[in-house]
Amino acid sequence: MSGIDTLPPLRDVIATHGLSARKSLGQNFLLDLNLTSKIARQAGDLEHCDILEIGPGPGGLTRGLLAQGARRVLAIEKDSRCIAALNDIAQAYPNRLQIIEGDALEVNPLAHLTPPIRIAANLPYNVGTELLVRWLTPEEWPPFWDTLTLMFQKEVAERIVAQPGSKAYGRLAILASWRCEAKIALHLPPSAFTPPPKVSSAVVHLQALEKPKFEADAKTLERVVAMAFNQRRKMLRAALKGAAPDIEDRLIAAGIKPTERAEQIPLEGFCALAREIAKP
Ligand code: SAM
Repeated sequence: MSGIDTLPPLRDVIATHGLSARKSLGQNFLLDLNLTSKIARQAGDLEHCDILEIGPGPGGLTRGLLAQGARRVLAIEKDSRCIAALNDIAQAYPNRLQIIEGDALEVNPLAHLTPPIRIAANLPYNVGTELLVRWLTPEEWPPFWDTLTLMFQKEVAERIVAQPGSKAYGRLAILASWRCEAKIALHLPPSAFTPPPKVSSAVVHLQALEKPKFEADAKTLERVVAMAFNQRRKMLRAALKGAAPDIEDRLIAAGIKPTERAEQIPLEGFCALAREIAKP
């Protein structure tokens, strides 16, 4: 017995199904079900929600989410070796766990989910940032999800919640803070995982806002922020030279000194600049 359900402990699941961790798939498993339940609780009240989980692996977080009362979990896992273990969980929670074997970067989960939808995952490090950026930059806002509760390397988590003036401040912080409230919910040492990774980890919680904090065209803002931080050591008038021929005038019109650098500009400044750049 595991303590949160009647399924076997995760170490037994791993032994039974031969799930030796593969580095190429970013496999660092969470085997402590008290910890996975704690992470699931960070996702809030799950009872009336469908949960999208990426990379369930042997199912530690999946079991935490189901034990916390998730209405349904849709789990997308690339490693075919994990599917039998996940099917055992699906049997223990009838009609509440759907498993898709596939690459989360390729599968469109929307057809299988009913709102309200929350996303929770101990993400594979190799695809984590790409998935986050996709979820933060959909065609339409509000997005299909209400909250994201995601494990990242500590350094990536710090970049998501970073404030202006810090080294970690950049594109991720701006994308996250423009239309979400983002916070670090939990810190985890390497020893929480099997095998332990070289770096510490943190769970980030993002809540989607109904509307952006400041008006701006999404594509223009994304382009300007990417250009500004691509050359973060340069003054903005140089880093953004390609954004508009009269970039100095537009920076001034947005209330930004052309000699400032990207990491000094708060979200509001970037949104003002995106509005100026979008003008004919
Ligand atoms: N959620 C499990 C846990 O907490 O123990 C496993 C987390 S492990 C860090 C990442 C999981 O993502 C692995 O099971 C791995 O096979 C899976 N994975 C890696 N790349 C993936 C992809 N592109 N799409 C879906 N799953 C992927």
